[in-house]
Amino acid sequence: MTQRIDHLINGKTVAGRDYFETINPATQGVLAEVASGTEAEVNAAVQAAKDAFPAWAGLPATERAKKVRALGDLIAKHVPEIARTETEDTGQVIAQTGKQLIPRASDNFYYFAEMCTRVDGHTYPTPTHLNYTLFHPVGVCALISPWNVPFMTATWKVAPCLAFGNTAVLKMSELSPLTAARLGDLALEAGIPAGVLNVVHGFGKEAGEPLCAHPDVRAISFTGSTATGNRIVKAAGLKKFSMELGGKSPFVIFDDADLDRALDAAIFMIFSNNGERCTAGSRILVQQSIYADFAAKFAERAKRIVVGDPLDEKTTIGPMISQGHLAKVRSYIELGPKEGATMLCGGLDRPSYAAELPAHVQAGNYVWPTVFADVDNRMKIAQDEIFGPVACLIPFKDEADAIRIANDIAYGLSSYVWTENIGKAHRVAAAVEAGMCFVNSQNVRDLRQPFGGTKASGTGREGGTWSYEVFLEPKNVAVSL
Ligand code: NAD
Repeated sequence: MTQRIDHLINGKTVAGRDYFETINPATQGVLAEVASGTEAEVNAAVQAAKDAFPAWAGLPATERAKKVRALGDLIAKHVPEIARTETEDTGQVIAQTGKQLIPRASDNFYYFAEMCTRVDGHTYPTPTHLNYTLFHPVGVCALISPWNVPFMTATWKVAPCLAFGNTAVLKMSELSPLTAARLGDLALEAGIPAGVLNVVHGFGKEAGEPLCAHPDVRAISFTGSTATGNRIVKAAGLKKFSMELGGKSPFVIFDDADLDRALDAAIFMIFSNNGERCTAGSRILVQQSIYADFAAKFAERAKRIVVGDPLDEKTTIGPMISQGHLAKVRSYIELGPKEGATMLCGGLDRPSYAAELPAHVQAGNYVWPTVFADVDNRMKIAQDEIFGPVACLIPFKDEADAIRIANDIAYGLSSYVWTENIGKAHRVAAAVEAGMCFVNSQNVRDLRQPFGGTKASGTGREGGTWSYEVFLEPKNVAVSL
């Protein structure tokens, strides 16, 4: 019988009035039937979170920290199981879920468990008054996640939210709900009281919208597309929010860069996570003097990438999350040549592609790593977030040209600069319009760094003390002396 996944409300499983199927994108098999939440379940979950809030917020931070750390321990204990579920539910390859994404999720709990015991304030003494700040938890928070790295994203929200004394209603993407359901169970096992973390499954319109609109929800931490983020912001009114949205990040390589390292990092930043990565270096800007050589080497490397069963340790690219998303990625692969780009590898029309796959995944949502050269930054393939393994190689003349092209985009999430010239590295890092810039590096997350974007990539930052912005409310106390 197909497994059923129910909501978790006030520490109890709550059956759905209706269920939807979550599909394994590699095999098209049904993994589970998942409860489809509506306003009624959202209301019950928010009420449970509201009721649980005073006791949870009132615990000494050291006591909350113990339980939050225990949740990290339970995740660490169950890495292989959670990683396998995540891989089956999303198509993200086991080499990444097992070794990076799920282990890092437990670090999120360890980090914020420590941090919640270190929250301090500021003092502003004057001759007449002593001002000081207090940081209070906000209350009930709506945590909404996308499908691409769902467990990592959920824990990145749940850990600071709970550690700082808030309670939560978590809504995962309808395309990848399974590991968050497990997170809810593990939270209870870790001793986190009923109602502190509630999980409501379902679709954006039926479950996400009423959650964001609920008057008792005080803050929204949302990760997802720019279109949905805009919709939520319009409905959020005076709630606090942080919006982690889409990206089309420039990966700029100057002719004085360490080319072997730049090549490795460029390949990783567009093809890891199946290219379904918000911080993907999807516009690869290469200085004209090295462009032809770089493009040839890049395409050679892309051709060798192993596409296959995501549960196989040797696989680098697994299936796209859904048939709908596959159709979107394929449409951009079709569009590239029509816009005038040169396809160096990949594409749709190699008949042997499906045959290269193991038999049990031949029905999967596969697309092959595709590299476009001669891309003009104004083409749609360069401007739109494709969110798949599709690289655009764009030539540039000099530093000013690189900065102009890098910034000629609606998004501003991440950016990457490769040069051995230290002055140039700092100048470009300062000039690029993005929330993050990595110099001579791929994206390496430090939990203290402000993570987030500017322009259409969002507003607000999370990570380290930056997470105070959404999950804590500062209050100034002024005492007359
Ligand atoms: P999406 O916006 O379609 O959905 C995200 C979540 O929002 C899902 O849980 C969905 O059910 C919910 N939702 C949809 N409509 C809603 C509404 N009206 N109100 C409330 N909730 C609603 O995004 P997606 O396709 O799941 O994810 C891919 C996108 O996420 C990409 O654009 C990617 O760049 C972005 N992303 C950003 C980051 C980041 O940190 N900036 C990280 C990962 C993914």
